[in-house]
Amino acid sequence: MYVFSIKISKLIAYLSEIAYKNPVRSALKPVQTLIQQAVDTVLPPRCVITGDIVDRQGMITAHAWSQLNFIAEPQCTKCGIPFEFESFEGMTCTACLDREPPFETARAALKYDDASRDMILRFKHADQIHVVLAFVPWMEKAGAEMLAQADYLIPVPLHRWRLLSRRYNQSALIAHALSRKTKIPTLVDGVLRTRATEVQGYKKAVERHKNVKKAFAVNPKRVEQIKGKNLILIDDVYTTGATVKECAKTLVKAGAARVDVLTLARVVRDDLDF
Ligand SMILES: [Zn+2]
Repeated sequence: MYVFSIKISKLIAYLSEIAYKNPVRSALKPVQTLIQQAVDTVLPPRCVITGDIVDRQGMITAHAWSQLNFIAEPQCTKCGIPFEFESFEGMTCTACLDREPPFETARAALKYDDASRDMILRFKHADQIHVVLAFVPWMEKAGAEMLAQADYLIPVPLHRWRLLSRRYNQSALIAHALSRKTKIPTLVDGVLRTRATEVQGYKKAVERHKNVKKAFAVNPKRVEQIKGKNLILIDDVYTTGATVKECAKTLVKAGAARVDVLTLARVVRDDLDF
C-alpha cells in the first residue's frame, strides 16, 4: 500500500510538471488546462508557507505573504544588497568596491530568511511548483531595470545527475514563468554545467568560489546567439554569489554584451563574506 501511494504521488507530481512547467503550443492548451484541473482536484494547491489550501490565483495566504521580507531601496547599485541607512545615488557596498563583480547588476525580490526559506525549500524539494506563478510579479518588480533591456533569460543549470534526482531545475521553472509573462525568451541550455559540484550548503564563501570554479561553460550551440546580447541569469537564491559570478564570467568571456542576475531571494547576513 505504501509503495502504491508513493507511485500515485509520483504520477501526480509528474502530471503537475506537465501541467505547469512548459509553455505549450496553443493547440495543446485545452489539454494542458484539463490536466491542470485534474491535478488541482487530486492535489489542491497549498500555500507553501502555511500549508493551507489556496486557489491558483492566491497561491500564498495573506498571512504568509505578510511574513515575507521584500528587498527595497536603499541598496547597493551593483549587487543589490539592502543598506540599513540612507545612501546616495549610485552607491555600492564595500564588497563590490573591493572587487567588482563580473555581472552588471544583481537583484533579488526577497530576503532569504525563515519565511522565504520554507517557501523555497518546498518549491525545490516538495513538488510545490505551482507557487512559481506567485514569484513572477515579485521578480518583475525587483528586476524591472534589467528586464527592460534583456534579450534572453538564462537559468543557472543543474548538473544532470542532480537533475535526475530532483527531476526539475527550479531555476529553469522560474525562468520559464518569467519568460511567459515578460515575453523575453529563455535560453534554457545557454550555460552548461561541465562537472558535478558538491552541494554549496554549509560551505564558506571562499570554499563556495573554489567549488564552482570552471564548473560552467557556454553551450557551443548557443555561442553565436548570445554574442553581443544582454542576458539575465536566473536562480532561486543568491547566497555568496559564487555560482552566478562564475556563470556570468563564462558568458562575458563568450561575448555577451551584458550579464545581470535576478534571483527570487538573497542572503543578506553580512557574516557570510560577500
Ligand atoms: Zn554590492
